[in-house]
Order: sequence, then C-alpha cells, then structure tokens
Amino acid sequence: MLGVQIFVGHSGQLCRIEIGEETMANKWDLKTVRRDWKNRVFFHSFKDLPESQTGKYERAMEIAAASQVANPKFSNYFCKESAVIHNGNGVSAGNIEYGLCQALHGEESAVSAFRSVYGRGKKKPLVLAIISSDDPRDLAAPCGNCRDIMLDDFGPDFEIVSGRAEGGLAVVAKMSDYLFDKPRIDSGFMFPAIRDWALETLSVGQSMENDPYSPRNLYPERRYYVSLATKENKYFGAHHLMCDYHPVYAMERAILKAMDIKKDPFVACVMVVASHAGPKPLLPHVMYRDRQHLYELNLYKDLIVDHELDRLDPSIYLCSVNQERKVDCLWRTTVKEWLPFPFSPMNFGREFLQHLKNYQEVKR
Ligand SMILES: [Zn+2]
Repeated sequence: MLGVQIFVGHSGQLCRIEIGEETMANKWDLKTVRRDWKNRVFFHSFKDLPESQTGKYERAMEIAAASQVANPKFSNYFCKESAVIHNGNGVSAGNIEYGLCQALHGEESAVSAFRSVYGRGKKKPLVLAIISSDDPRDLAAPCGNCRDIMLDDFGPDFEIVSGRAEGGLAVVAKMSDYLFDKPRIDSGFMFPAIRDWALETLSVGQSMENDPYSPRNLYPERRYYVSLATKENKYFGAHHLMCDYHPVYAMERAILKAMDIKKDPFVACVMVVASHAGPKPLLPHVMYRDRQHLYELNLYKDLIVDHELDRLDPSIYLCSVNQERKVDCLWRTTVKEWLPFPFSPMNFGREFLQHLKNYQEVKR
C-alpha cells in the first residue's frame, strides 16, 4: 500500500486566479499512477509528453500553492488546493476548521469555489491539485467524505495531482483510482446463517432508521443498514438524518455503538443490506465516509492487539433483499479493498499512532 498525506480540508472562498502562459514550466517532475497486471501500484513518468499536455498540472499546482483560503485553527495543517479547467484557469481552495475539530475540507472547498465561479452546465474541472508537505511519493488521499462530494459533483473522470509547493516530484492520479465499486459476487447467501444475519440487519436497521428527508426514488442503494460483528457482539446501524443535512450514516452509527461503553473495535465481519422492490438485485452503495470510519475502527483493533499495522482485513458482505424479504444476491469485499489509498490516522505518522494506541488502551 502506498502511504498518503494528511489534509483536513474545508471551503468556499471565491478566489479566482488566472494563470498566464508565462507560468514556469517543469517546476514539478510529474509522474502518474499506474497498476500492473497484478494490480500493484507504481509511478509512471510523464517525461515523453509535451508541455501542452502536462501544463494543466503545473498550472493547477501553481494556483494551489498560492491559495490563501486555509484556516486550520486546530490541526495547523494548511491544505492548499485548486481546481482548474482545460485552459489552465481555475479556483483556489483550502481547509477551514471550526467548532471542535470540525472542518470544511480543501476538496469540499474546491467543489464550492469551482461552482461559484463556473456555475453548473456541463463544465467540470480537469485537474484538482493538492499541495502536500509530506513525501510526494506518498500519494495524496482525500478523506471518505471528500470522495463522496467529488464523485457526486465532479464525477469519476477528473485527475488529482499532489506534490510540494516548492516543486519536485508531483503525482497524478485519477479520481477513479480512489474508488471501488466492483465487489465479487459471493455464494454465501446459500448459508442460512448468512441469510438470517442479513434479514436481522434489515429488520433491526429499519426499526432504528430516522430518515424523514431522503426522497425514496433517489439513490435507493444508498439507503442501507449495517451490522458489525465482533468476537463478542453484533452492533447495528441505520442512517440518522435531521433537518441540517449532516446525517450520521449507518456504519458510523454502528461504530458509535461498538465504541460506546464496551469499547469493542474488534471487527470480525460486517454485513450491509439494501432492500428493493424492483426486478434486479440492488448492490448497496456504502458512502466513502462510512468506509473510512470502518477503516479507522479496524486500525484501533490493530493498535490495541499490537498486530502489525494494516495486516488484518475483515470481510464485508453486501446484501440485496427483495420485497418478499428474500436475499437475492450477495457480494463480498474487505475493509481495505473498498477504500483504495485510504485516509486514516496512519497518515499522521508513527508518533501520533503511539498516542492513539495509548489513548485507546487507557479508554478500555
Ligand atoms: Zn476531506
């Protein structure tokens, strides 16, 4: 796995920067992310491409490096970002922190600033740039929530470039590199125990759900229910929506239960269920914010039991239940597979991980 960088983004400034053709070329040594036939990630050089094709990355990095948007009052981590269109013009963005370690992230900021300047219509950014003070070989990793907003508003086809403000190595990845939506179909639904668990997750989840807001006909695959199984217990979750449109998602709610009194992050397996009335099975679409929270919970387990970090990878069942309350399809993935290039406390370095381990052990 490649490492990643911290950013705690944020939003909303309307700082528009026009960059002319005199922008210094070749300040950054650009490389792109590729995968080999074994799906291993490596960097591929851009060297053979003319400046006319790589200039957009340079311009995006220049605009991001000049960004004055960030206000990281808690983290002191300045996220400097940008979003540019085909002619190299674009908007700057950054993180704005507020409340208690609450933040409008740099990518959320970029979406908002981009739409403020360019409106709706068909226009989408070509490149989103992220300035990192970390080793640029560590690919920038947007958090789960930022993946959710970028996917919905910009789609999966734009590129993300990251590197240091002063130049040097800068890495270009596609937004689609950060997404995973192809779990394997699994024959586990042949087993009564799996079917019973799925139906229990659906029943308990529907009784817990608080959602008077989401339109029933929009994204039914995003209205899912969750059960986390640990060695000792099962913790259920369903979405909790209130009028401010800052929901607690189903996975987060199950995690809150697991960590509430017993402090039980020992995830063994996860069930996610979506129900449908149509003729075809419905693959639950779990929001990336939920995936990231599960990733962090699993990391707590690794820290507490002193496993080598990043070694354990619990299975996740994704289950479709039809109107007759019959399981009609089951897919399978893992905590790590469905969040490529994860954003997690591992991004904050070994010293912070030791603090996190001590904190979780004292809490138990
Ligand atoms: Zn984010």
